[in-house]
Amino acid sequence: MTQITPMMKQYLEIKAQHQDAFLFFRLGDFYELFFEDAKLAAQELEITLTGRGQGEDRIPMCGVPHHSADQYMSRLIEKGYKVALCEQVEDPKEAKGVVKREVVKMLTPGTMMNGNVIKEKENNYLVALTSFKDQSFGLARTDLTTGECAATLISKDLEDVIHDIASSNAKELVVASNLDETILKKIQEKCSVTISFEDQVELDPRYEDLCVDLQSEKLRESFARLLQYLIRTQKRSLNHLQKVTYYHSDLFMKMDTHTKRNLELTESLREKKKAGSLLSIVDKTVTAMGGRLVKNWLERPLIDQSAIDGRLEIVSAFLESYFEREELRDELRHVYDLERLAGRIAYGSVNARELVQLKRSLEKVPVLKQLVGKMVPTSKNHWFTEEERVFELIDLLDRSLVEEPPISVTEGGMIRSGFHEELDTYRDASKNGKQWIAELEQKERQETGIRSLKIGFNKVFGYYIEVTKANMHLLPEGRYERKQTLTNAERYITPELKEKEALILEAEEKMEQLEYDLFVLVRDEAKQYLEYIQTLAHSISEIDVLAGFATVSEQRHYIRPVFSKKREISIIDGRHPVVETVIEKGQYVANDVHMKKGREMLLITGPNMAGKSTYMRQLALLAVMAQIGCYVPATSCEIPIFDQVFTRIGAADDLASGQSTFMVEMLETRYALTKATQNSLILLDEIGRGTSTYDGMALAQAIIEYIHDTVRAKTLFSTHYHELTQLDQELEDLQNVHVSAVEENGTVVFLHKVIDGQADRSYGIYVAELAELPSQVTERAEALLKQYEGSAVSTKAPSTNQPEPKVTLIDQQLTLFEEDTTKENKVKANLSGQEDKVIKKLVKKDVLHMTPIEAIQFVNELQRLLK
Ligand code: ADP
Ligand code: MG
Repeated sequence: MTQITPMMKQYLEIKAQHQDAFLFFRLGDFYELFFEDAKLAAQELEITLTGRGQGEDRIPMCGVPHHSADQYMSRLIEKGYKVALCEQVEDPKEAKGVVKREVVKMLTPGTMMNGNVIKEKENNYLVALTSFKDQSFGLARTDLTTGECAATLISKDLEDVIHDIASSNAKELVVASNLDETILKKIQEKCSVTISFEDQVELDPRYEDLCVDLQSEKLRESFARLLQYLIRTQKRSLNHLQKVTYYHSDLFMKMDTHTKRNLELTESLREKKKAGSLLSIVDKTVTAMGGRLVKNWLERPLIDQSAIDGRLEIVSAFLESYFEREELRDELRHVYDLERLAGRIAYGSVNARELVQLKRSLEKVPVLKQLVGKMVPTSKNHWFTEEERVFELIDLLDRSLVEEPPISVTEGGMIRSGFHEELDTYRDASKNGKQWIAELEQKERQETGIRSLKIGFNKVFGYYIEVTKANMHLLPEGRYERKQTLTNAERYITPELKEKEALILEAEEKMEQLEYDLFVLVRDEAKQYLEYIQTLAHSISEIDVLAGFATVSEQRHYIRPVFSKKREISIIDGRHPVVETVIEKGQYVANDVHMKKGREMLLITGPNMAGKSTYMRQLALLAVMAQIGCYVPATSCEIPIFDQVFTRIGAADDLASGQSTFMVEMLETRYALTKATQNSLILLDEIGRGTSTYDGMALAQAIIEYIHDTVRAKTLFSTHYHELTQLDQELEDLQNVHVSAVEENGTVVFLHKVIDGQADRSYGIYVAELAELPSQVTERAEALLKQYEGSAVSTKAPSTNQPEPKVTLIDQQLTLFEEDTTKENKVKANLSGQEDKVIKKLVKKDVLHMTPIEAIQFVNELQRLLK
């Protein structure tokens, strides 16, 4: 560039300090972007790229009008970008040279207070990660919209760090600029977060109070990084931040991202939607706050039994009183998002309409308190203390604000009359002025004789007298001064009107200013109640969630789980909470789970589509439901408290992730095997599938043995390798179970019933028939199967003596081939080796429908087998 203007120089200086953000540079009524920012923004926002300057020096540029800038910025934030908002900080009229400009605020995905990024029923977390010399990590997080703050330490394990970040669904991650790049890369592989840097970890003394509960210097440092980033980017009061709570991940049931995804806790595997997830079942909340809390609970089930029982106790109290509960939920529907309102009050961004929403919500407190009091015994009811503060705040808001104030806080119309004497005087003056004008209109009409004459007002010209062109000649000379000409009319002003106008406008301007000042006063007064509002918000969200648990438990006939001290599982008639709602009513087949000494591990076999995966997930979901304090779908359920749950799905089944490589499967399995304890639950679904048969089978066996002998976690292992079922003879705590299917009159019926003993065969070919593969294919497969079975040394353990249950459900029916298998078995008993195979082939063949060529080939094949 040959020469730069002083303004460009200013731009470049500011941009240099905000490399990682779009710099929105205020120029008059626009925000302009230049250079690379402009090119990228033009693309992302689909706006026109223009330029500034001439020829070679032309600088790429694009801009958005300042009044609609919010919407553009919010679109960039949604895409994970950051924006630095640069304003003119002095009056251009008074500036010598270039107007002074400064970045007044950074907008980032993790620090947004409103806009599309903020989802009503989701938290918006900003997380700071600090890596210490001793290889431990500190994590601090906040949701700026609610003020919630928390911090924890994790020793050594980066995977745990990643799972923590992922489970808070963080939008933005703040790290030191010298953080090890490999760490950053690993995090970015697993979580889609915007990365920001902050090197200052000295705690700002103004916020000392927030950290009183943090015991260690490391925790303080971790939080300080977060805080400093907020201070630097927000450049405003952060006094709605709540005390930082220390959380230890050992206080919650741990589930890594794979597990959560596979169990479809908060979103479905395929569509990534809430529908089809466990959340969609147990979330019966009616407030946004409750919606966020229940999601958080699902992300972090409890492991402290008394805390869990505390929740269950309330659910059972709510369950017993249908009418009060429904009334309670009806009342809750009128409660606004207090948590976020509190955030906006503190931030100074709340408007009068929202303060009235606050008031309406607070007015519900007495009735909520009364209803909860009716249901919950006093010893368990720790909500709604300090009720008098509610009344104080209601009183303040009620005295000061009208019932339906406008959204704008600068145009008046917010403050109730009687609240402030001076305001009332102005209002009278303005009202009188308007009255005077109405009278003037009458007077002018009479004096001029023009009946269509009218007095109007607009923002540019103020008050005017309007006369149509046809009547203009009727106006007397002198008094009327022409002000504006329209096509059909002329607008005038008179000295009298001018004088009154000045008075009215002055009163109105003063009124608006005064209203704004009074509003700020009220808002600041409301700030005194912040902590109280936050506590209230928390109580209400808890009540909302628990009342929701009671509601779903009643609707779906759940029962209260009991926790086993002996680490035994005994579930009678358990159901999968989601699947039972999507299949036809009454068609779900309930299943028992019994796991204890002698059967700590269940090896599950059974045909494809029989319900193996469903059965496994059902157990994990019941555990999660129990540990968040919800009732569970079963007729009785005794279950230990699990410290961790792991779910691994064989690669072939895990297509949804787009990472269906065998390596990933093994890495994830390694994680489960090294992290699990005997208090954990492991679900391994068809592990070993992603490689060749013997390879996979060998691995599967080795994994089973390792868990059995070393890890000792409660484990469900489903497999299509029937050879593995013989393991129960060597492994004391392994039990074979299978999902039954029966053949009846040449059809296969899936019973979805899990019973002891291994399945007979894999029924894959029947499923292929079900899928209507060409019969040539299925017949050939049938033949091949016989061939393989004939050649392999039978490893099958003797068939189980379990009686087959009665057929209760005919879900899928498949026509088998004509031959009766028992006949074949007799043949099989008398022959062996290749002859066996040949005979079988011959018996099986539909000779009458063969072409001569096929017949020749067939005979040829048989001959080859015998040679
Ligand atoms: P597998 O893992 O054995 O191949 P899945 O668990 O995926 O089988 O189940 C296949 C389908 O069978 C499910 O989508 C569901 O519709 C149905 N199903 C599974 N378990 C049950 C059950 N207990 N009762 C009724 N239907 C079931
Ligand atoms: Mg399966």
